[in-house]
Amino acid sequence: MLPEKSEALVIRHVDFSETSKIVTLFSRDFGKISALAKGARRLKGPFEAALDLLSRCRIVFLRKSSGGLDLLTEAQLVSRFRPSGKNMVAVYAGWYVAELLDGLTEPHDPHPVLYQEAVAALERFADDSTLDRSLLRFELSTLREIGQLPAFDGCLVCGATTDANLTFSYWVSQSGLICRNCRHDEFTHLTLTPGSLAILKRLAAEEDAGIDRLVLSPQQQKEIRRVVTAAVTHCLGHPPKMMGYLKGQ
Ligand SMILES: [Zn+2]
Repeated sequence: MLPEKSEALVIRHVDFSETSKIVTLFSRDFGKISALAKGARRLKGPFEAALDLLSRCRIVFLRKSSGGLDLLTEAQLVSRFRPSGKNMVAVYAGWYVAELLDGLTEPHDPHPVLYQEAVAALERFADDSTLDRSLLRFELSTLREIGQLPAFDGCLVCGATTDANLTFSYWVSQSGLICRNCRHDEFTHLTLTPGSLAILKRLAAEEDAGIDRLVLSPQQQKEIRRVVTAAVTHCLGHPPKMMGYLKGQ
């Protein structure tokens, strides 16, 4: 067993014994890993409280070949997730990031771009004024990076592209677009006005979405939020737990 090094975010931790913890980390180079951190519950232990939820650390671990828990041998704190003041919404948004990384990625499946998006999102959550868009950006980046982004460029049934002069909706059960001509009353669909669709595509693209300059009307925010929550629910197989705390974001 050779020691592996990476940078990682702590996305879950549970006490394992009087002195140890089991931590789930989302690492930049190895994806999600679960590791035993011996002595992590000791105040003066080897990890010096680096393993708080959503802390970003430089880690060294030994990979177990048998499919068991990896062994964390070092964790050096880079930064903590500490939104300013009493901004609970930012805290909930952070927990939601942890929920999605844990629920939507597979162990030892690296996604370095998603790692960067998660780090950037946690930093941006400190800014109240852009939190709604930062959150949408992170959710859409996650879906894109795991290959589950709904196709926002045309109707799933007839293939009409969004350039066509048609109105489109989000088809909930199929997680894609459906045009007005193909829609049926029995399909559950969510309205997407052309302006919302354009913003959705911009937030989902790999290039920088320019969140600071992106202005959404309350109606666009509402439409995009409903579609993104539905798409995340479709992938998770259940509604995200933290979404209940993030109403209005
Ligand atoms: Zn169609």
